[in-house]
Amino acid sequence: MDYKQYVTIVEDWPKEGIKFKDITTLMDNGPAFKSAIDDLVEYAKKKDVDVIVGPEARGFIVGCPISYALEIGFAPVRKEGKLPRDTIKVDYGLEYGTDALTIHKDAIKPGQRVLFTDDLLATGGTVEATIDLVEQLGGEVVGCAFLIELSYLNGREKLKDYDILSLMEY
Ligand code: AMP
Repeated sequence: MDYKQYVTIVEDWPKEGIKFKDITTLMDNGPAFKSAIDDLVEYAKKKDVDVIVGPEARGFIVGCPISYALEIGFAPVRKEGKLPRDTIKVDYGLEYGTDALTIHKDAIKPGQRVLFTDDLLATGGTVEATIDLVEQLGGEVVGCAFLIELSYLNGREKLKDYDILSLMEY
């Protein structure tokens, strides 16, 4: 399916010069959204994934339906101060701004095969930071699944040691 027809490009949001890829119009189309998630489910099956990890908020939107389909867990990665129990933290840079990400210390068990999910790969800072968290906990990142990849930002270069799937490329 050509998923790009369902993505809305918003110019100069949230800052001048950013072409924001709005996936809410893909989510709004039930069959297109299901088909995109199904594609990622197939990828997760091939990778024999034990648990899915995704950053707030759109990583939850992409990762949770995969986790539901495969009857495996989903571990949320959140901004600092949002998770209620013991966490580990990593600082990271975004295409626009910097921040810190956290995960519960017990969210990943040593040796678990982990799939990273998010809506979009830009510079790769978010996925790189999340991989750091997963590996600190002893997990093995066996794949990274995105709806969209902005290939002109070369995020893949940060991820040479990891397998990446993206359904759309800009
Ligand atoms: P990065 O860490 O640079 O790979 O940025 C990825 C994160 O920022 C993802 O969680 C995206 O949701 C968000 N993001 C970055 N750039 C864009 C963009 N142009 N359109 C939509 N989301 C973006």
